[in-house]
Amino acid sequence: MRLSRYFLPILREVPKEAEIVSHRLMLRAGMIRQEAAGIYAWLPLGHRVLNKVCNIIREEQNRAGAIEMLMPTIQSADLWRESGRYDDYGKEMLRIKDRHERDMLFGPTNEEMITEIVRAYVKSYKALPLNLYHIQWKFRDEVRPRFGVYRSREFLMKDAYSFDLDQAGARHSYNKMFVAYLRTFARMGLKAIPMVADTGPIGGNLSHEFIILASTGESEVFCHGDYLDMAPPPASLDFDDKAGLQGLFDQWTSLYAATSEKHDEAAFAAIPEARRMAARGIEVGHIFYFGTKYSEPFGAKVLGPDGKEHVIHMGSYGIGPSRLVAAMIEASHDEAGIVWPDAVAPFDVGILNLKTGDSATDAACGELYATLTGLGYDVLYDDTEERAGAKFATADLIGLPWQVLVGPKSLAEGKVELKRRADGSRELLSPADLVERLKA
Ligand code: ATP
Ligand code: MG
Repeated sequence: MRLSRYFLPILREVPKEAEIVSHRLMLRAGMIRQEAAGIYAWLPLGHRVLNKVCNIIREEQNRAGAIEMLMPTIQSADLWRESGRYDDYGKEMLRIKDRHERDMLFGPTNEEMITEIVRAYVKSYKALPLNLYHIQWKFRDEVRPRFGVYRSREFLMKDAYSFDLDQAGARHSYNKMFVAYLRTFARMGLKAIPMVADTGPIGGNLSHEFIILASTGESEVFCHGDYLDMAPPPASLDFDDKAGLQGLFDQWTSLYAATSEKHDEAAFAAIPEARRMAARGIEVGHIFYFGTKYSEPFGAKVLGPDGKEHVIHMGSYGIGPSRLVAAMIEASHDEAGIVWPDAVAPFDVGILNLKTGDSATDAACGELYATLTGLGYDVLYDDTEERAGAKFATADLIGLPWQVLVGPKSLAEGKVELKRRADGSRELLSPADLVERLKA
């Protein structure tokens, strides 16, 4: 992408309305624009990051055996009357009437709809286990939307729903998602800690929140410091290995970690003092096992191997991709701007033409741009008329992980400069060596 033809509305001033750094940086980097309280447009740069986050989530959901689909944002109130949640949900639910005066709503979550779908088609235990997910916009009329996309009213959610014949099967399904989440967040460069959590209005009795420690987090959390040194499971993992997954779950829950609602002072005090962490955190994912809470009222049953009817056991598993974008910035930024982990950066490489209009510089940049693009890198080529200083500032603000600085001085020696955003280190290299260096 040539910056001269892109849409990147950078703000040089710090927006006053933004209280936390991720919100400030997302506005300044031209990633989002507020359209109404808690409702945001994702501008091209933000949209790129959001897509990368969704793709990582998708790959790990698929790896764990979950199947993608897409349910609508607008739901019928009747569905929610079946579970009894239409009235319970209160003011958080955005209620809508269509032209026939039918009660509709903008979905805050999809337990009811997915249970209705499975009830309609799944009649035998042979179709189980089943895990269906989608990545879709949700609306919750939050009392206090704030911090930009961290707590918005319209937000993106990956929500998966598992269906099993019995509790033991549901347990395995829960473990699959638990382990998939460990991998998902690690691939985004995040240390997300699974913490024992309250189930809230979703109901049920087994639940974990995945929390990223950050001083601006809204949750108060308590955990063992060793979590920060634990390595995520490998991609080669066999998700059908029940005992293996249970072992991983046991390992990741053997240390103390709980949100404030589930905090146990005595268990926390048993942690060696130096490893005790009482901190603030951002909830980026939440998983639940809730048994037959929805399948029972919906009558979602299957014929078991014993020839009898069994009410299906369910779980649900959420991740907030839009919140994650903010959380990643909270976890990784500096004075100059965002420091994206490579896997989610909007572009892999930036090429900064330090003297646009100079024929040798333009030619060298054009050639590098073609080579790197051809190799499959996402490249942002700053070919604008801005001064060099402004180009450096923009590249750092939007957090391009690798920046290639191309100017007449180094070109005279046949070199370009490669800068690593994360540590500011720089190297002079020939264009050919630069390509090799990036590949490595
Ligand atoms: P919170 O406690 O932060 O209000 P929640 O517990 O209500 O969230 P869940 O129902 O567990 O949220 O939703 C699953 C995921 O969706 C959350 O872990 C979070 O990442 C994301 N999410 C929930 N509410 C919002 C919101 N208002 N804005 C952005 N993301 C959200
Ligand atoms: Mg939650």
